[in-house]
Amino acid sequence: RGGRDDAVHGRLLADDTRHVLHPWADLSTLGKQDPLVITGAEGVEVVDSRGRRYLDAIGGMWCVTVGYGREEIVEAMAAQARAMPYFTPFGDVANEPAIELAAQLAALAPGDLNRVHFTTGGSTAVESAVRVAHLYHAALGRPGRRHVLSRTDAYHGSTYLAASLSGKQADRVRFRYEDTWVHHLESPGHDADDTSVSAAERLAGLMAGMEAAIDRIGAENIACFVAEPVLASGGVLVPPPGYHQATRELCGRHDILYISDEVVTGFGRLGHFFASQDRFGIVPDMITTAKGLTSGYQPLGAVLISDRIAGTLAETADPDKPVFSNGFTYSGHPVACAAALANIELMRREDICGHVRDVGPYFMDRLRELRSSPIVAAVRGDHLMACVECRVPGESGPTPRNMALAHRVDTYCEAGGLLVRPYENLCIMSPPLVVGAAEIDRIAGVMADALARAEADLRSGTAAAG
Ligand code: PLP
Repeated sequence: RGGRDDAVHGRLLADDTRHVLHPWADLSTLGKQDPLVITGAEGVEVVDSRGRRYLDAIGGMWCVTVGYGREEIVEAMAAQARAMPYFTPFGDVANEPAIELAAQLAALAPGDLNRVHFTTGGSTAVESAVRVAHLYHAALGRPGRRHVLSRTDAYHGSTYLAASLSGKQADRVRFRYEDTWVHHLESPGHDADDTSVSAAERLAGLMAGMEAAIDRIGAENIACFVAEPVLASGGVLVPPPGYHQATRELCGRHDILYISDEVVTGFGRLGHFFASQDRFGIVPDMITTAKGLTSGYQPLGAVLISDRIAGTLAETADPDKPVFSNGFTYSGHPVACAAALANIELMRREDICGHVRDVGPYFMDRLRELRSSPIVAAVRGDHLMACVECRVPGESGPTPRNMALAHRVDTYCEAGGLLVRPYENLCIMSPPLVVGAAEIDRIAGVMADALARAEADLRSGTAAAG
């Protein structure tokens, strides 16, 4: 599957270059871009329009969890599209797959997170969760609780509020964001690779910073705290042990709602359907999910809301204006929900989460071996989310030279038939969860080779020109 003849391939490239503005495009090359056109996919591999095959260590974009070419998901989508492709989800109109999926999500979610609000993806799930938090506090007679706590290095999406919550400095260039009521706490990944600071000291510093921020803003003004259990796009940053419990406890003490953004960590990537409780021991007030919910076969997101919050909204509804004015044309799209149901069934049948718990440590061990390369600053991750941080020896952070070096590593990986996700000076990896030991060896091998070639370029003066 995949290859196109030269004429078709040429036309695709020309039309992309002429007409498409890609998400996160490099604007300095707009109109000159040279896209990789992916035309086919099977298992853990994708094929480009030239017919070249790659092991997809990106998992699409953190989302293709059960791998490509899963007929049962495709069949479920087709059957639903034939039976009833779409009807409004607004008000009290429902569709069967969305009802069934809501029940399944409630059963999978921790605690009393039994109420599901469907969205169209991760950004809209995060936005909706914050709106629910605002509504909850307003319902309790405290509309002043509008402020939102997020963190530096967070990524929560690309709609206006989700982008405002995101704290990746590189994404903030030239854009203005909401900053009167959105606050960024210190990144829990700060100092993560500094062995001179103990995890306990890091935790104490982070919690002191969070308490100081709550004091400064005033708990009575804060609606919620939004947090990825492991910060994904910000550089696969794993908070120190105890961080999740401590932040949960602090939020609970001040009635600040805890929103766990599991758009990446949910649906098996850390070896569980949801990581909040099963991996990190906390029950949040809300969980946002998307991506792996359908294994990327369809766009879909959801906010899982506690009975406590939903009950408060119902009990305090204004009899004259009882509407929950949030939702999207494609909230709970029947074809997307059918894909999610087939995906969950498949994940259960093949015990995908158990598989991740088995191979995840091996994946991290193989990647940690890469630390012997002088151009690797760090290898971070948890189960099947990981990143390799590149650096010119003696230079740290996303400097132009380090970014150019990482770019070179990515290019060599691509030439070796491996797709990793370049971000600043990081090579980020989140392979499909069905990846096996042999494929993990292939990822580690191609990566080692790419690092060796980039290092040789560095020595000969042809790399990291910046
Ligand atoms: N939250 C997290 C943690 C994410 O990683 C992402 C996307 O990468 C989002 C939210 C936004 O999801 P979407 O791109 O589906 O809107």
